[in-house]
Amino acid sequence: QGDSKDFDDEVSSICPFCGVGCQVSLKVKDGAIVKADGINGPANEGRLCVKGRFGFDYIHHPHRLTKPLIRRDDAPEKGLNVDPGNPWTHFREATWEEALDAAAHGLGDLRSFYGGKSVAGFGSAKCTNEEAYLFQKLIRQAFGHNNVDHCTRLCHASSVAAMMENIGSGAVTATFNEIENADVAIVIGANPTENHPVAATFFKQFAKRGGELIVLDPRGQALKRHAAHMLQFRPGTDVALLNGIMNVIVEEKLYDRQYIEGFTEGFFEFREHIRAFTPERMAELCGIEAAQIRAVARSFARARAGMIFWGMGVSQHIHGTDNARCLISLALLCGHVGRPGTGLHPLRGQNNVQGASDAGLIPQVLPDYQNVTDPEVRELFRHIWKGTQIDATPGLTVVEIMDRVYRGEIRGMYILGENPAMSDPDVEHARKALAHLDHLVVQDIFLTETANYADVILPASAFPEKTGTVTNTNRQVQMGRKAVDAPGEAREDWRIIVDMANRLGLDWDYDTPRMVFNEMKMSMRSLHHITWSRLENEGAVTYPSLSNDDPGQPIVFGDGFPRRAGRAMFTPARVTPPAEVPDERYPMILTTGRQLEHWHTGSMTRRASVLDAVEPEANCSLHPKTLRKLGVEPGGHVRLTTRRGTITVMARADRAVAEDMVFLPFAYVEAAANILTNAALDPYGKIPEFKFAAVRVENPLDD
Ligand code: SF4
Repeated sequence: QGDSKDFDDEVSSICPFCGVGCQVSLKVKDGAIVKADGINGPANEGRLCVKGRFGFDYIHHPHRLTKPLIRRDDAPEKGLNVDPGNPWTHFREATWEEALDAAAHGLGDLRSFYGGKSVAGFGSAKCTNEEAYLFQKLIRQAFGHNNVDHCTRLCHASSVAAMMENIGSGAVTATFNEIENADVAIVIGANPTENHPVAATFFKQFAKRGGELIVLDPRGQALKRHAAHMLQFRPGTDVALLNGIMNVIVEEKLYDRQYIEGFTEGFFEFREHIRAFTPERMAELCGIEAAQIRAVARSFARARAGMIFWGMGVSQHIHGTDNARCLISLALLCGHVGRPGTGLHPLRGQNNVQGASDAGLIPQVLPDYQNVTDPEVRELFRHIWKGTQIDATPGLTVVEIMDRVYRGEIRGMYILGENPAMSDPDVEHARKALAHLDHLVVQDIFLTETANYADVILPASAFPEKTGTVTNTNRQVQMGRKAVDAPGEAREDWRIIVDMANRLGLDWDYDTPRMVFNEMKMSMRSLHHITWSRLENEGAVTYPSLSNDDPGQPIVFGDGFPRRAGRAMFTPARVTPPAEVPDERYPMILTTGRQLEHWHTGSMTRRASVLDAVEPEANCSLHPKTLRKLGVEPGGHVRLTTRRGTITVMARADRAVAEDMVFLPFAYVEAAANILTNAALDPYGKIPEFKFAAVRVENPLDD
């Protein structure tokens, strides 16, 4: 606790730990952040979760990179054995001039010898919009191709693919706060109390006020206590469940005829397709009762206003795009889009994954999802980017890039704030690939598992050390403000990208993030009426904003969709099994995800003292009966083996997990979950199947 006289400064900024985008007041004393309080942002209304309130001291951790590093000539082989507190056997300190020259010359030499496509880039959803924009521009302009991607590929790429296809937009149609105007809300494949905790508080309030909350998930969760219906269906049977629900709506004629007629296309074909998916058959596939499917269908279809929220449980499957197509069809069938209390809302994971995607940090599209294959779009960017010819071929995605690296076709990478040596599926494959690179430049705040493979490491800034805009899951563009200086010689990311660009032969003259933002506005219709000054003064503006004093539209598409004839489309989806199903050798189902205290690969939250104290050890959750069968006490250890590898972790008893399933958080390097995961991809979104792999669970004491 403390009052304002205890602090030297108080700075309003944004929490960096999830897509909710809570506004936070950072209290600064003697150059350090000592406290964080929630303030009245449009998404959080003063609330913060444990990460936002207690997770900030990672920025003062002794492992922070404070000087550029270059791999020593006599360094041991590239690998995972570098101590982030003592990297000197592998790296030596360098000046910024030396490090930037080495970083850029290494990539530039590959470009000269092997062509631009020998180099690819991963940008970051942890950086600002301006930094994401600059990074994708650098790769496209300096190397002449679109092989640039970021972690959206690992979270909601399939949702975005389905939304672009069927409603013409990759962003939410309504803010999550709109739930206060809904009668019914479906939460599917998401665990908001752990992953979007402040959003979850709005969901609980909705239920307490009498709203009907429907939770659909293979795993139980805290929201279950507030749910009118909780359907724990078999993992991987999402399409069956959703088609079963829509079958009831079609057969009982509960659909909204007027809406379908006015705003959609493809209904009649869809209706014929859906007739085969009877609730009885689908219930059997899903391991639930047909009556539960009927009850959910009737509730959602009869509601005056209904919303659908989803997370990685929907998207991270080889049928992730089909899952999202079903959710879109369900909303369209019932006319639950474009009005107060209605909408489609994929809950975004990283704090700026919406903004980084909007800014063009994806291989198929330029800023604002403008397709690289469209000659008019390429001409627009040729004009704005002073003559740059944009490659008309869509680029490679994250997993595809790592595959090409493994095969030696891509020889150099520039990785900004991403950690593929922890986050990629079948991560040993990704690690071997990284070790193959002729030249790897990593820009980060810590010596991450990926930085272990770097040739040059550029020390960057944490979120409270720079100013820039970010866009949350609600489409709210918000101003993140610098509260403290970066440690040592670490620099703001946008400055480092500009320095790299100029050394790679580009003639960039950006002096401020504001200049970058103004250039973004030249090509991004979503930023119309949103200015840097407005964001400085108002803190947040939701896009689209219709005038210079419109705070933005929380609900969109009430009068049609940005598709041909303004109509959204029904796309039928078929039931397809996961890429790898349990068998005799691997009889159980592995599913991975986050937990409340840790975020993504743990590079930040495991260095946040309070969060690490609460959750210090790699763990998994199993049903108590499964543990008993294995002869393992809760808190003991289990060995998990898939076709790709083995790890040993502490086991917790959790009745929320089905008896044939194991839930494994992916934040722990000492037992990296992605050693086990399957790299099979959804064919449309190119997202890996993190949510389903066949696994063997053993008691190591049985050996
Ligand atoms: Fe930060 Fe998300 Fe928690 Fe808000 S809900 S405080 S944005 S981690």
